[in-house]
Amino acid sequence: MKNIFPGALSVCLSAILILAGGCGQAGIREFTKTDTAMGTVVRISVYSAGEDPTGETLSLIRRLEEETLSYRLDTSEVFRINESAGDPEGIPLSDTMYRTLAACQKLTEDSGGAFDVTLGALTRLWDIDQWAAGLRTGSFQIPEEEDIRAALSRTGADRLSLEAVSHGGAAYLEEGTSLDLGAVGKGLALDETAGYLEQQGDITAAAVSVGGSVLTYGEKPDKNPWRIGIADPDDPSRTIGVLTLRGQWCISTSGDYQRYVEVDGVRCHHILDPATGYPAESGVRSVTVVSAQGMLSDALSTACFVLGAEKGMELAAEYGAEALFVTDSGAVVMTPGMEEWFQAAESENTGK
Ligand code: AMP
Ligand code: MG
Repeated sequence: MKNIFPGALSVCLSAILILAGGCGQAGIREFTKTDTAMGTVVRISVYSAGEDPTGETLSLIRRLEEETLSYRLDTSEVFRINESAGDPEGIPLSDTMYRTLAACQKLTEDSGGAFDVTLGALTRLWDIDQWAAGLRTGSFQIPEEEDIRAALSRTGADRLSLEAVSHGGAAYLEEGTSLDLGAVGKGLALDETAGYLEQQGDITAAAVSVGGSVLTYGEKPDKNPWRIGIADPDDPSRTIGVLTLRGQWCISTSGDYQRYVEVDGVRCHHILDPATGYPAESGVRSVTVVSAQGMLSDALSTACFVLGAEKGMELAAEYGAEALFVTDSGAVVMTPGMEEWFQAAESENTGK
């Protein structure tokens, strides 16, 4: 599915929320909103007996970007952390940031370095932020090998130290190193959204997608389960199958079709292998991870993409998450728990 928004990035949604069915419950109305935030498309659908909460939900996600996650906006905490690089005094962290960075560092360790939020120098060298559907050609050049090596020397978990203090923590970032939380931001947005929905007494169900990450919440008034389409990497407007789930889950997909540039017929996608400095080549086209926590589903889908199917499945299992991989040959492989939710398109007859 392609969404073109003037002045904003256009991206392919990789987990496609399939919304169907009326409300079927007295007093409960469905409110929907589609807009952009975090450089991607946000779709919000809420069933509520009260006022329309979709505007507040969108504001919440935009605030998270502006105040916490953006590395470009000087209003954000990540920006301030990056500015502090090289300062021996370090920088105090909010509680949320401390917990997020601590969880990211644990995942870096558990993934053998495949997942790394200190890749800022490298992701900026590749200029990933500027890639958008429709702008995939033009003047983009693959970075020089020596520049990649130089950027890599400024990355690595050992260049970020965290210290726990009461009500948050502190970070010490080595000179020249910068954080890029692009691999967890959408999942964090889902966790914030879930917290907000829980506080609203009159919301019975909701589905919110932020780019390739989807939150399902509660039970739809018609009692039908949530249905999440898994995009076909060869044609993301189509689905290869559907996940059918009930209740609260976060479903994140990382794929080589979501953000890329093509140079002389070679696709450079946005998930980089910290071991090489180049787009990861692990034999997979996309990974979808289901977890109760958005931060984890998002982080794990990125990590599993870098690791490939075999090691990725082991990592997902360690975290109690389920994962599904579309391999280079188009095969679909998944953890046993995922099999209970997944139905391939042929048997479902939902090609589109
Ligand atoms: P996602 O789309 O969630 O898989 O995240 C990809 C984004 O995370 C990229 O656009 C980069 O900003 C950043 N990124 C790329 N490679 C990695 C990696 N190996 N570990 C952590 N973050 C990464
Ligand atoms: Mg991710």
